[in-house]
Amino acid sequence: MAGHRKHHLHTEDIENDPYSARRGFWWSHMLWLFYVQPQVFDRQQYQKFAPDLGRDRFYQWLDRYHLLLQVPLGVLLYAMGGWSFVLYGLAVRSVVLWHSTWLINSATHMTGYRSFDEVEDNSRNLWWAALLTYGEGWHNNHHAYPNVAKAGWQWWEIDSTWWVIKAMKSAGLAKKVVMPPAT
Ligand SMILES: [Zn+2]
Ligand SMILES: [Zn+2]
Repeated sequence: MAGHRKHHLHTEDIENDPYSARRGFWWSHMLWLFYVQPQVFDRQQYQKFAPDLGRDRFYQWLDRYHLLLQVPLGVLLYAMGGWSFVLYGLAVRSVVLWHSTWLINSATHMTGYRSFDEVEDNSRNLWWAALLTYGEGWHNNHHAYPNVAKAGWQWWEIDSTWWVIKAMKSAGLAKKVVMPPAT
């Protein structure tokens, strides 16, 4: 999360954006993960760039133990369908999810259309990346208004994450949901 905020603060800056697309597709897609970058992995840095989340007990817990959560899921999958369920439900699913997420740092900073040309980076709206990531692929919209909960602004910009936020909002589970400015 701290890395994500640095990405917004210094978008595509070769030094300060942890996954700057100007360093090439593979760097922004996954190579950045294989180099020691304190702003991405160091807890002290979380405090600086994401102090709100660094203080939150739930996120502290999740940061420490998210890998362990896979263990009960693995046991459940094994009970349901043996090793093939574990392979597809854990390993294959995780790898597909990683690459889908990484496409937002790589592909949507390289190809697609722009609804907000005034945004001073190369972020783009990319329909197939949006489908893979439940809406995150409307990345030019997101860079134009990073604090707005909705990423798909046009009727054709399918954003299923927004549908979930909307449902949570009507159930009273999501508060302070930031909407796009009225045009
Ligand atoms: Zn971006
Ligand atoms: Zn973002």
